[in-house]
Amino acid sequence: MQPQRQPLRSNAFQVSGQRLWQWYQQAIANLSQEQERSLVDLRQELDWLLLEISNLTPLDLKLTPSAPPIVQMQVSLEELQQLWQQRLTENKPVQHLTGTTHWRQFHLQVSKDVLIPRPETELLIDLVVDAAQNSARLDHLNLWADLGTGSGAIALGLATAFPQGTVHTVDCSREALAVAQRNSQTYGLDPQIHFHWGQWFGPLVGLEGQFSGIVSNPPYIPTEILPTLQPEVFEHEPHLALDGGEDGLDAIQEIVAIAPQYLQPGGFLLLEMMCGQDAAVKTLLINQGQYEQIQIHPDLAGIPRFAQAYRI
Ligand code: GLN
Repeated sequence: MQPQRQPLRSNAFQVSGQRLWQWYQQAIANLSQEQERSLVDLRQELDWLLLEISNLTPLDLKLTPSAPPIVQMQVSLEELQQLWQQRLTENKPVQHLTGTTHWRQFHLQVSKDVLIPRPETELLIDLVVDAAQNSARLDHLNLWADLGTGSGAIALGLATAFPQGTVHTVDCSREALAVAQRNSQTYGLDPQIHFHWGQWFGPLVGLEGQFSGIVSNPPYIPTEILPTLQPEVFEHEPHLALDGGEDGLDAIQEIVAIAPQYLQPGGFLLLEMMCGQDAAVKTLLINQGQYEQIQIHPDLAGIPRFAQAYRI
């Protein structure tokens, strides 16, 4: 059974449709004063915010003049204005205004303590399912690891894709683990997921040789590139989840080195990486010596984004 998307907050405010449309039109008009920002993106974010905090549908937004007389909202109009101002003046990611994001079929809680799950990462779950189907040597599909789980997005994806499976998640941030735990409870997936506080494989000692697959979207941005990221990312997202050290490969290197100890024969590792890291990651996998069928997969934009390798 597919879990239902659940609203994270209730629509407690009844707002006049007409007042809301006036506000909306004004907010759109004011966007023309924004410089050095994509107006198309901001306009999309404005719509996303409205849809997220109200009972409006995308069609309602297209038909604004014939607005419903009363709109149910999670915040008052004044609060909506304050939230939108934070977006514009503090570079707050729109997902932080609502504390939510959508990722695959999930409506997830996010906070400043976790990386906002990105659309490109959604593909990781499909790659895991394909890799599992293609491994003739795996004797079970029951044990999974999500290293650096953050919001828990990957763990939820794995638990749903393998309903008989157990997912061990690890994060070195207790705050992130709390977010991941809440998200798993929202979808009733917490009985399948274990949450461990620690560094990479540290908390998994005792489970050597057992994992069907180990999956991770680790920090992979080179430290000196961090300040060049969009201010929404650099100023508001956790550097712990982004900073991959001098060449961006610190975490990837450690995971590649140790994963074979934890995988069953025929088990696989699937990692996300940055554009341009594919050759280096492939070399790390080859040099480790215990992997075969090493493959690089592109994301939906065609960028080499994921590395996959089976344990010999
Ligand atoms: N994809 C993220 C970004 O572009 C980075 C995620 C990561 O370092 N794992 O900001």
